[in-house]
Amino acid sequence: MKISHVDFSGWQANKVTIFTGAGMSAESGIPTFRDRMTGLWARTDPMEIATPWAFRAHPQRVWDWHVHLGGAVLTASPNAGHRAVADLEQRGVHVTVITQNIDNLHQRAGSTKVIELHGNLLRLKSFVDEEAAFAAERPPMICPVCNGYAAWEEHDPYANRDDLLAIQLLAGPVPHCPGCGALLRPDVVWFGEPLAPEALDAAWDAVEQCDLLIAVGASLEVEPAASLPWRALQKGARVIEVNPAPTALAEHCHASFAGSAAEVLPTLLASLWATT
Ligand SMILES: [Zn+2]
Repeated sequence: MKISHVDFSGWQANKVTIFTGAGMSAESGIPTFRDRMTGLWARTDPMEIATPWAFRAHPQRVWDWHVHLGGAVLTASPNAGHRAVADLEQRGVHVTVITQNIDNLHQRAGSTKVIELHGNLLRLKSFVDEEAAFAAERPPMICPVCNGYAAWEEHDPYANRDDLLAIQLLAGPVPHCPGCGALLRPDVVWFGEPLAPEALDAAWDAVEQCDLLIAVGASLEVEPAASLPWRALQKGARVIEVNPAPTALAEHCHASFAGSAAEVLPTLLASLWATT
């Protein structure tokens, strides 16, 4: 890794964007969403079960799979890489994290500005059944608790989203929204679903406004997220890649370190802010 061999003098960065992928959480022991699990769910293909079609057909089975994944997330801890990013923010640097991970580990480490491109496994939202809404004779209502389509009309107009936050990803029957009765699901982007437009807009803003972008453990294979570091380069930001398996970005960015987040980030961030 030879971080000490890169001369960072003159790298004045006022706004830093840290873009993280699965590699960021690998050392915390979190399997990637695409990887098959071991044990009970070893024969289940994530690309078949983490979809809106699977949930419509077998909500309990899909819920159970997410509860199992949630168990791995809840027992994991932020690693030295997550902590180094959070420490940088606490030192007064303007840091925005854009993550493809759904494990909440940046927040648990202490980062406060986190854009979650693929959602958060530990947060729930209502299941919006587009097919049922289309087939219904009356237009769908928007439930004030979950902001999803109401399945019936006896919702509580005084309810609020706090009710929903008390419901957790726990083993048992699939929970329902206390307002409208809609089935609840993890607030993650499933296969076949688009990214949330608000998250994507916020990510583009963070990329276009930063002076320095550090891409950490992101394979850069899936659009539109893969374009984010390239956009930062186009806009004139300095770009660094940290990845045990460097991507095509490594040849075009300003510095590249073939190592893991926990190995590289603490030293890298200390080097950068020691010289600016
Ligand atoms: Zn609802």
